[in-house]
Amino acid sequence: MNSNLKLQCEVCKNVVLLKVYGGYVHENSFTFSCPKCNVTVSGYLIWNENLDEGMVKEFKCKNATYVHEGSPTHVLQLATEFFTDKIKQFDPNDITSFFPPYMLEVSKSRATQQKKTELVSMVSDGFENEANISFRIWELYKNNKHAFLISQLIQNEYVKKPTYALENLKIDYSDIIKQVLYRPFSFLFIEDYYRIQDLQKKLLQLKSKNLTELQSLKKDLSELITYSDENIIQLLKNFSIYFELLWPIILTYICGPKEIDKIKETKGILTTNFDMLKNYYVESFEILSSILPIFLGIQNIYLRGNRNDFETETAREFKDIHTINEYNTKMQNKGNRLKYFTKENIFLPLLDPNTLNNSIRNSIGHHSYEYEADNQLIKFNDRSKSWDLYLIEFGDLLFKTIYTAFAAFEIIMFLKHEVPE
Ligand SMILES: [Zn+2]
Repeated sequence: MNSNLKLQCEVCKNVVLLKVYGGYVHENSFTFSCPKCNVTVSGYLIWNENLDEGMVKEFKCKNATYVHEGSPTHVLQLATEFFTDKIKQFDPNDITSFFPPYMLEVSKSRATQQKKTELVSMVSDGFENEANISFRIWELYKNNKHAFLISQLIQNEYVKKPTYALENLKIDYSDIIKQVLYRPFSFLFIEDYYRIQDLQKKLLQLKSKNLTELQSLKKDLSELITYSDENIIQLLKNFSIYFELLWPIILTYICGPKEIDKIKETKGILTTNFDMLKNYYVESFEILSSILPIFLGIQNIYLRGNRNDFETETAREFKDIHTINEYNTKMQNKGNRLKYFTKENIFLPLLDPNTLNNSIRNSIGHHSYEYEADNQLIKFNDRSKSWDLYLIEFGDLLFKTIYTAFAAFEIIMFLKHEVPE
């Protein structure tokens, strides 16, 4: 479904042409900056499922009005699954502004495009309901509501109804609760679930070789382990809100080609802007950095058999930190915390220190950034450092933090359920 809308800015009366290419998502949100007065125009369009009632079911827009008259100065493209051209001058002779974005994709492979649209269609259909069930089962598990928890697990086919009394049912919560939380997000792991399996293997290896050391780690970080799982769930909840804004980025990651570097100057996304994403990044950064001691303790044990034995050069750089407990309580600078994963990192690519950028976090926190809306370019400043990221690069960083969240969840569930006190 395609629709052309003329939108007139309520401030400066400038008209732009919004070309909407409907995919498998019924609601298409958009946000852009008026090319003349720079006021942010945002809204959404909902397609009719039954086309007999017309194509557009609902259209809402802030700061601009849908008009029939007027010559547009600029043209904007909106699509769910594909990157689109950034805002450009309206030129009736430029035929490329009339091509739908999937025709202009760098990859012209039909198979890849097919895979992308199928994936979006599959996820969009059931995601909300599945995520809702997963989060409520998590709540029951967290609050130890056993009877309700078991009935929900049976009802949603995670556990078979036993032929004997329910009270005698033994449940492996470590395994089942992980299944529950992975289910709505399984599309993220279509290509690389083996990375999670690889992490699981490493953890089981530790259990058979270094159990007492794991127990000491669990004791040292007991408070952190107790409170962190709920924070991870918060990140999954956030992701379930913003992921639909990032479809082109997610699909490029899963289905390829990994082309963000190649196209970032000319292409972008209109479904979101920096303002809508920045706080999600800050929250991901804060939560995941606070969990780093759990990752580091596991890494030290895996590589050297001792939770307090750090990589030599890094240990030399931070002479005051002698134990994992000190790393957890004394080292508050998140950038320094991350340095322990530069010389060695057994969690790559699930924990990629490049996605957790302390300077970006500070720049957002101090509002020391500028956003060039037309170009979809963010200029970050943190003290003496400054650098640029395109919106789709920033979206890519944010998106990848979800993999770190799942890795953290694996480790926390392992320590809670597989390592005895
Ligand atoms: Zn305007």
